[in-house]
Amino acid sequence: MSTITAPAAETLTVLGRMGEHDHEEVLFCHDRATGLKAIIAVHDTTLGPALGGTRMWPYATEAEALNDVLRLSRGMTYKSALAGLDLGGGKAVIIGDARTQKTEALFRRFGRFVDSLNGRYITAEDVGMSTTEMVNIRKETKYVAGLPEEMGGSGDPSPVTAYGVFCGIKAAAKTAYGADRLSGRKVAVQGAGNVGRHLVGHLIKDGATVYLTDIHDDKLAAIKAEHPAVNIVKPDAILSLDVDIYSPCALGAVVNNDTLRTMKCSVIAGAANNQLADESVHGPALMEKGILYAPDFLINAGGIINCSWERRGYDRKAAMAQTENIYNTALAIFKRSQEEKIPTYLAANQAAEQRVRSMRQAGLRF
Ligand code: NAD
Repeated sequence: MSTITAPAAETLTVLGRMGEHDHEEVLFCHDRATGLKAIIAVHDTTLGPALGGTRMWPYATEAEALNDVLRLSRGMTYKSALAGLDLGGGKAVIIGDARTQKTEALFRRFGRFVDSLNGRYITAEDVGMSTTEMVNIRKETKYVAGLPEEMGGSGDPSPVTAYGVFCGIKAAAKTAYGADRLSGRKVAVQGAGNVGRHLVGHLIKDGATVYLTDIHDDKLAAIKAEHPAVNIVKPDAILSLDVDIYSPCALGAVVNNDTLRTMKCSVIAGAANNQLADESVHGPALMEKGILYAPDFLINAGGIINCSWERRGYDRKAAMAQTENIYNTALAIFKRSQEEKIPTYLAANQAAEQRVRSMRQAGLRF
């Protein structure tokens, strides 16, 4: 009997790559005058317009940029579906250096490309972008979220993301230890950035002993000044600490063959996107090791929930209340994983796919 092997990603055409995970549309954007090179990917619009941030990054190759935008846009479909939002999944990447190549003209030109999709894609901030760029994009299209609060927007999503991550950590604690109070628990937070900073405050307030690391000392010093109880550790020490909960809030792919060997925690729950280097390998490996993993796209949805409120008139209180529901969704996903004896990432993927499928079958397409 012959075995059918999937072609390697690099041998597939763009349409072949889109077919792998059912992407609806990919728009390549080029403008010589401004130097714009961008790709917009719309993964799935069954639940609503595809909302997802634009990332500006100096990708070494076009293939790398395409990989990233396809992977990230699909992730947004799952994130919004699980969060109960009426939004599809999309993402954009601009190939360029965010420190040297940002101009008003480039972002306005990009805004025109976003506008050409007629609302099938709504952009927002991601890595390398800020509200300043959103304001420039807004000059050319109304399909933009993440605007400053003074423009009726939702502002910085990080505090809301941090609150959602905190709710996810509590749900994981409830499942792993039987109680969601973090008093007496040791939590290692990797990354003292926008999310990490706010998360530390919630954890300390709930009684946790917090260990924090970052590659930038000034960020650590600022948090230490605000929360003297926090314990600062070196970046390479964070993973081998003897803690209950590890909260990755910096980089992706932090759960891999190397780190799995040194980890001593019983729960992983943080904000960073794509924490599992390979979900089909490291999802089951965590389960075997008895480590409860809170899927990143499940518990870091506070930012997209916050953005989604811009579309119906921004209401911070309502956004926070909806974000708090991450606690209940996470409990349901952990239960499903235990009952069906499947890794938590798979339980979360299946729940998201189920919601999209049921709307599609009912003909309730956006
Ligand atoms: P940020 O850039 O403000 O913070 C990241 C921090 O990680 C920085 O302080 C950086 O110095 C630090 N860092 C980088 N490499 C490190 C390393 N090796 N060890 C320790 N620290 C390191 O980003 P953020 O907005 O706080 O987001 C954190 C993560 O959460 C990112 O992966 C982001 O994609 C994800 N996320 C953020 C949001 C949001 O609303 N901001 C929403 C969803 C997901």
